[in-house]
Order: sequence, then structure tokens, then C-alpha cells
Amino acid sequence: MPKLRTYQTEAIIIKKIKLGEADRILTLYTPHLGKIQGVAKGVRRPRSKLAGHLELITHSQVSLARGRNLDTITGSQTIDSFLPLKNDLWLTSCALYVTELINQFAAEHVENYPLFQLLLEIMHHLCQAGDNELVLRYFELHLLSEVGYRPQLQQCVSCRSPLKPVTTNAFSPTDGGVLCPKCRQRRSLTYPLSVNALKVLRLLQSSNYDTASKLKMNRELSDELDEVMSHYLEYLLDREVKSAAWLDILREQAKQTAPG
Ligand SMILES: [Zn+2]
Repeated sequence: MPKLRTYQTEAIIIKKIKLGEADRILTLYTPHLGKIQGVAKGVRRPRSKLAGHLELITHSQVSLARGRNLDTITGSQTIDSFLPLKNDLWLTSCALYVTELINQFAAEHVENYPLFQLLLEIMHHLCQAGDNELVLRYFELHLLSEVGYRPQLQQCVSCRSPLKPVTTNAFSPTDGGVLCPKCRQRRSLTYPLSVNALKVLRLLQSSNYDTASKLKMNRELSDELDEVMSHYLEYLLDREVKSAAWLDILREQAKQTAPG
């Protein structure tokens, strides 16, 4: 059966790069086509009708025409612009972090409907008031499950004995999970994982968002989890996550201006 010359898809715009004088190449995450790219022609001109519907971090219905190399975006209609995420620097940065990770972990043209649903769900949660750090940790754990890097949190990744959440264990990025105190001594590059941190990671990994969102984390625990997860993500991606470094700068600034 010949492929249709034009097609439509729902999409969330996760990346944009400039092309030529007035165009952009957009990376879209879609429910059934996975990650795709399209050229948005003239979208950087002030009067472009498409531009408003193709902003980064926007949920849109997009029409595309197949091209020899890249497909061309011929139309777009906003479904949700996630406005709260665009009016606040911290929330914009959180959303960009989420889209950067999706872009890094998702394969082109490989359908992953649960991952699309997760991305959409996370954008909605970030729009709500609440603990954004918790939303990001929930996202990281569920992202890793969807793309095949679910960390092992129940038994030691070396000796397979059940992990006891009564003592400090260690997270090992190279092993993809947690080491018991005994096995930890034989490994380099591990990070201590407190009793509470292990409990929270387990709960985030195994729960839906309704349950996870009831968790309360103090700053110390929140920082510990952020650090452990970023070590694991950077190990998997073999590079620094640019937007994560930016989030760290914003966190530092917030600590200096807010007491406690
Ligand atoms: Zn062990």
C-alpha cells in the first residue's frame, strides 16, 4: 500500500532548531509515530500563522506532507499551550528538562504510546501547584521504566539478596540499581542511598501519580534523590543533561534567597 502524501498527528513539540533565514526544524513527540522531525517553513517570520501553534512545549494537532528527506509541517492547531509553564522561569526550565530527556531517550519512528502519555501527564502535573521536584523524580523513574532502564530497587544488583531499607545502601549507575552495604565495598563509583531515599524511590517507581503526589519530601531528601537520579541519567546518556545543569543553578539561587 502506498504511503499517503500527507498525514496528521497529535504531537508535543520537544525541540526546535533554526534552519536558514526563517524556518525551523521541529522535533515532535507523537502518540503512534514516536519521535519525528518536520520543517516549519517561514515560522520565524513575524506574521507566520503557524508560529503560535508550534511553540516549544505545546500540545498540538499537526499536519505534515512527506518530503524526500524531511517532512514539512503544513498546518497546526494548538490543543494545549501549557500556559503556566511559559510564564515562570522555573517551570519552563522543568518542562525543558522533561522534553530534553524524552528527546534523548526516545527513538525516531518507534511508537511508544505509554511514553507519550507520560509526557502529557507530566506537563499537566507541572501546570498544577505542588512539589515540582517530586513530579520530576516521578517522571525520571517512569521514563526509565518505559525505555528499558528501570533501576533495580528491590534486591542487590550484585549478590541478589533482598535490600533492607533499614540501613544505608548504595546506588550504582553502572549496575543499574542498588547495592547492599557488603557488595558496595567492592565497587567504585557508587553513591550512598539513605533508608528514606530508597523508600521514596520504590514508592515513586511502583505507584501512579495520585499516590506518589501524596509524598512529602524535605529539602535534604529531595536533594539526595535529585543527585542519585542525575548520576544515573548522565551515566546512561554518557553526557551531561544541559537543562539539568540549568535547574541546578536555579535551585542554588532559590536556596540563597529563601531561608531554611
Ligand atoms: Zn549485595
